[in-house]
Amino acid sequence: MSHYNQARFSISAPDITHLGPDEGIEIAFAGRSNAGKSSALNKLTRQKNLARTSKTPGRTQLINVFSLDEDRRLVDLPGYGYAQVPLEIKKKWQKSLGEYLQKRNSIKGLVVLMDIRHPFKDLDQELIYWAVAADLPVLALLTKADKLKSGKRKSQLLMAKEAAMAFCGDVSVEVFSSTNGIGLDKLQQKLDSWYGYEIKKKSEI
Ligand code: GDP
Repeated sequence: MSHYNQARFSISAPDITHLGPDEGIEIAFAGRSNAGKSSALNKLTRQKNLARTSKTPGRTQLINVFSLDEDRRLVDLPGYGYAQVPLEIKKKWQKSLGEYLQKRNSIKGLVVLMDIRHPFKDLDQELIYWAVAADLPVLALLTKADKLKSGKRKSQLLMAKEAAMAFCGDVSVEVFSSTNGIGLDKLQQKLDSWYGYEIKKKSEI
């Protein structure tokens, strides 16, 4: 039984000013649309439909908050990178995301999900720079790892680890697959450390 099974939908917010009290510990999940964020959240929480995928590109998206207990929350940020979204809206969103990372006290870590085959696109990099500037630790999660054979997977991981060093911050990299569970233990360990849970042995996960 993991803490993450306890996740329950809490609120949806149109923007960061409606997120509720800035207390406890919050960990945010972000990524380009289609990066596999909803699948990863569902895998992590062992719930099939906790995070729902939006199949309507460009529609107004909400921030969804899931609570694990009274003090701990998962924050599912809207996917970015839709080509169809007007520049004006993109800029507004980027500004509020930057503010969220800079100003929100309760945020203790950011998970940036990126397809292992196309990591560190411009917006991913921008987000990571903001997080580093805000002194936030980042986990770059290379998703859909099952799509690559083990050799290629390892070389992508190595390449991404090198790329991560360029941010000069606390940016770690792991591979992940919602399909076969690769990397789930590593993801949990990182979240456990950010949430202040006692770190479990691999055999207990
Ligand atoms: P989101 O837009 O970031 O929330 O992405 P989704 O979780 O909706 O995933 C986008 C697409 O990628 C869906 O068709 C998923 O079935 C697929 N997908 C997500 N995670 C994985 C994975 O680990 N392996 C594979 N093979 N496909 C995945």
